[in-house]
Amino acid sequence: MTAKILSGTAIRDQIFAELKGEIAQMAASGIRPGLAAVLVGENPASQLYVKSKIAACEQLGMASWLHSPPASSTTEYMLQLVDDLNRDDNVDGILVQLPLPPQVDTKKVLEAVDPAKDVDGFHPVNLGKLVSGRPGLVACTPAGCMEILRRNTIAIEGANAVVLGRSDIVGKPMALLLMHANATVTICHSKTRDLPDVVRRADIVVAAMGKAGYVKADWIKPGAAVIDVGTNTVKDPAEAEKLLRNFLERLEKFRAKGSVLVGDVHPDAASVAGALTPVPGGVGPMTITMLMSNTVKAARLRRPSIAAREGHQPRAAKSTR
Ligand code: NAP
Repeated sequence: MTAKILSGTAIRDQIFAELKGEIAQMAASGIRPGLAAVLVGENPASQLYVKSKIAACEQLGMASWLHSPPASSTTEYMLQLVDDLNRDDNVDGILVQLPLPPQVDTKKVLEAVDPAKDVDGFHPVNLGKLVSGRPGLVACTPAGCMEILRRNTIAIEGANAVVLGRSDIVGKPMALLLMHANATVTICHSKTRDLPDVVRRADIVVAAMGKAGYVKADWIKPGAAVIDVGTNTVKDPAEAEKLLRNFLERLEKFRAKGSVLVGDVHPDAASVAGALTPVPGGVGPMTITMLMSNTVKAARLRRPSIAAREGHQPRAAKSTR
């Protein structure tokens, strides 16, 4: 079997087209959804992520603001900045790029974000809503995985789904979303026994461990749908040879470049799975896509004029005080 490739870039393009339509409608009511990004210090990877997020806002015609306090910023400074953004009525979404410098209390800062503007879906209020199945802002990467499954009409109801990883930002919300979609969910972690056997029972596998090629092809039930969240940069030539021995073109690229991006699932799984997200080009593009989608959703829910038009009860926004 050769797996159907579940392209995240194709779904990103679909969702961007839908969002553009919605943003144009909002513009007609004088509303421009806006995302404020906070990037502390000069971590090159974080700079790259934030740049792509701002570029996506521009592509969609949304407003964006970049706040770049120095690496020496204190928790108090960050809390003041978040408070200012909470009160700014033009800001629909607040994105605090992680990691924050060690002297900053990350939890405190994330919990200070107004839950109505928490487009990363990290706030305990939004996590609580997710647990209880109420509408709220959901963490972008797992929300993106669900879009991949749904838009490829992969049957979730009644399926055995195995989630590898139990982090707050991927594994846990992913398991909850699958459970709410009526899958029977097993959550695995570093202490799980007989992992290969657990994975072999899965109709849907979501791998979010951060271990290059850890999930082997013979762990995958033939025909299963595999969502590979892992993004691991492999630089060791011996490891790259092992992972890409059946992918000569990728191996050639590795030899030329000296590194390759690999998921948590061994690339050979493509010959067993029924459907598989590629790395890169699978889950990765969906994370930014869902951030954009959450920002538009936040604007829809918190701007009184849109809420009134759509029959929602407007919430008393902090920023209008
Ligand atoms: P994380 O916080 O490090 O969590 C990793 C999870 O994997 C933990 O729950 C850990 O178990 C589990 N794990 C580690 N080794 C294991 C093993 N041998 N067997 C079973 N479980 C194991 O990572 P994360 O933030 O969730 O991210 C996971 C991966 O997704 C990373 O590669 C990250 O780069 C990638 N990611 C990609 C995107 C994207 O946009 N594509 C977004 C977010 C994350 P314990 O809890 O027992 O330690």
